[in-house]
Amino acid sequence: MSFDYVDYICLECARNKRVKQVPKPEDLRCDACDMKLYRIDELPILVRYPERISINNARITDLSGRKIDTVKINQRIHITADITNNQNHDQKLIYLVQMDSTIPISTSLKTVCDTLAAGKTSCWPQEFQLNMDGDYTAKIFSWKSGYDQIALFKPTNVTVCVVP
Ligand SMILES: [Zn+2]
Repeated sequence: MSFDYVDYICLECARNKRVKQVPKPEDLRCDACDMKLYRIDELPILVRYPERISINNARITDLSGRKIDTVKINQRIHITADITNNQNHDQKLIYLVQMDSTIPISTSLKTVCDTLAAGKTSCWPQEFQLNMDGDYTAKIFSWKSGYDQIALFKPTNVTVCVVP
């Protein structure tokens, strides 16, 4: 049995929805602003990593921020990384963490709209709770904005092994 779930995103407010894939999908609308939702894997992402924003130390932590390697079923975890703005001006961004697996998961995509101040490092830990054992991949990526899907740093994967 295979499960095919697809992540959709609102380009206006970055809200998202994960739905089961169907042969003829109807138009999905954003719950917040009623704009059309787009499949995240069909957006024409411009791949350009100018190194003006850098990502380091992508990791899994427990809720107190301690780095962990193994995750138990239903354990609440954070996926996080240090994001540095190497520019001398502030940078608006959308920060996204997408949890992927062959296992069906109800909440897979987390998004944050924020501004990273000039020369500063920030992190936006995103909480996940995985209720089946197996291997997952958390992909951390970022765009300038919903309408300007210019990648600000190279997407970075974190492997999450969930054990009983
Ligand atoms: Zn919206």
